[in-house]
Amino acid sequence: MTEVENQELVLPEHLDIWQQTMSWQPLPQQQASYQRLYTEILQGNRQLNLTRITEPNEFWEKHLWDSLRGIKCWLVADPGAEALFQENPFKVLDIGTGAGFPGIPVAVARPDWHVTLLDSTRKKIAFLDAVIATLGLTQVQTRVGRAEEVGQMAHHRAGYDLVLIRAVANASVCAEYAMPLLKLNGTAVLYRGQWLETETQALTAAVQQLGGKIDRIESFVTPFSQSIRHCIYLQKLKPTPAAFPRPTGVPTQKPL
Ligand code: SAH
Repeated sequence: MTEVENQELVLPEHLDIWQQTMSWQPLPQQQASYQRLYTEILQGNRQLNLTRITEPNEFWEKHLWDSLRGIKCWLVADPGAEALFQENPFKVLDIGTGAGFPGIPVAVARPDWHVTLLDSTRKKIAFLDAVIATLGLTQVQTRVGRAEEVGQMAHHRAGYDLVLIRAVANASVCAEYAMPLLKLNGTAVLYRGQWLETETQALTAAVQQLGGKIDRIESFVTPFSQSIRHCIYLQKLKPTPAAFPRPTGVPTQKPL
């Protein structure tokens, strides 16, 4: 290894941008965790194809900022809820987490939440197990599996308050993966790039079949590259019919 490769790349803080865009800032220990995560991913990238986003500012924007933008409305903890959470923790699932996005930045920002990271690729989950141990994230669990299977397991079905899903499949497929896993009144966040009105129509019909509705759509641009992003918030109104999620591969082959 050359001396340059050995140097730790420093992740920017951009506290002013966190404040302006989210009315929130990471604490010094959270910033240290994000730095550690960045370093681990750069190292992991040598063996595994984890991410193409490796430059410090780009990592900050596309992985950290973007992950937390989806939970902006939950970023500032409600102090009264803390006692409640100790008995009945807020349960979060990240479907198709890959290198841990958005789940790990979310878990660092909200250490009172119980976060489960799901991915069908065993190697990625093994990498994440090591990252979680290094970061000391005791409230984070991992699971190797497919959303189609986990969504039919009694232990997971209707077991989560919040389901996050970024860059996994088209929107109605994401809805089919996420909705069965939500508790009644729970929220699913679909992280999307561009979004068209025609997509809203198609998704509305799919989400209705799954027992929910589109609660709201937030449109925004990322702070540096000014890329357009959307977060689609789904709310579960009634139990999802037992037929969903359909068997592995069917949701992508025949999207609702
Ligand atoms: N969410 C991450 C990774 C996106 S890549 C990010 O935004 O950076 C998509 C990931 O989803 C891959 O790691 C892939 O293994 C996983 N995946 C795809 N289909 C899946 C399914 N049906 N169930 C579980 N994981 C799935």
